[in-house]
Amino acid sequence: VGGLTKTRDNLTEKVNQLISYYREIDDEFYEELEEILVYADVGVATTGEIIERLRARVDQEKLGDTAKIREYLSEILMGMVGTDGELELPSPSIILVVGVNGVGKTTAIGKMAHYYKSEGRKVMLGAADTFRAAASEQLTIWSERAGVPIVKHGEGADPAAVVFDAISSAKARGCDLLICDTAGRLHNKKNLMEELKKIGRVVDREYGGAHREVFLVLDATTGQNAIAQAKIFKEAVNVTGIILTKLDGTAKGGVVIAVKNELNVPVRFIGVGEGMEDLQVFDPKAFVEALLQ
Ligand code: GDP
Repeated sequence: VGGLTKTRDNLTEKVNQLISYYREIDDEFYEELEEILVYADVGVATTGEIIERLRARVDQEKLGDTAKIREYLSEILMGMVGTDGELELPSPSIILVVGVNGVGKTTAIGKMAHYYKSEGRKVMLGAADTFRAAASEQLTIWSERAGVPIVKHGEGADPAAVVFDAISSAKARGCDLLICDTAGRLHNKKNLMEELKKIGRVVDREYGGAHREVFLVLDATTGQNAIAQAKIFKEAVNVTGIILTKLDGTAKGGVVIAVKNELNVPVRFIGVGEGMEDLQVFDPKAFVEALLQ
């Protein structure tokens, strides 16, 4: 797992220092560990759960010194981030991508297009974020970079009409993975819901046999705000997966653990840079191992 240097310097180093500094496990040890986790954006609720589980394990094993703490901690975190492997996308599939402006939605779609194309899929993009003209222009640039076709309409067009055309075009060209950008106007939950419902009806009607995913893009650098955002999106739409971007830009990668533990939606990809290759399929085991070396 690359791109986690900052988090590793922050979380891993501190945990290691704590373990070597405290030979014995006492209340102060737990308090300091709690502080490290909260600072790494694991979140207060999730941190509380981790400490509680760790205490129970230590008591159960009658562990007196800190020697095995890393192992226990790693097991607890592993249990929290889950074991979701790579998502199997049948053919055909459609991925609707939601998320507020600036989180890295367009970039994530471009990177996914590149990733799935390199996996041998025939990818097509649909620019159904018609609210901002810049959104479809940016997505067009990414479609060129990734070398995949795109369907777009003018600014202010009906997003559901874009999806309709994208589906027809995907069928005509034999594309088996359609990735559609959608507007992320979270300040108007009702509109967002209506828009996505309408898109959903078009998909039902025109692409009923296709497997459907709704990926929510969250910016890891916004920490606990990302969690709050996700909770609102989850109320509005059936989010099936999360893409956590900009993990390279934060020392607070612990937010991945909070996302998994508090939202109960699998993290599918993590963004670790601005380039086309800077998207990784999220591997929970490798992630926890990278965090607690
Ligand atoms: P959108 O408004 O949600 O579509 O956001 P964009 O895709 O335009 O991205 C906003 C900014 O974040 C751009 O400058 C991107 O290059 C940058 N960005 C996106 N993903 C990542 C990432 O994983 N790491 C870093 N460092 N920057 C990213």
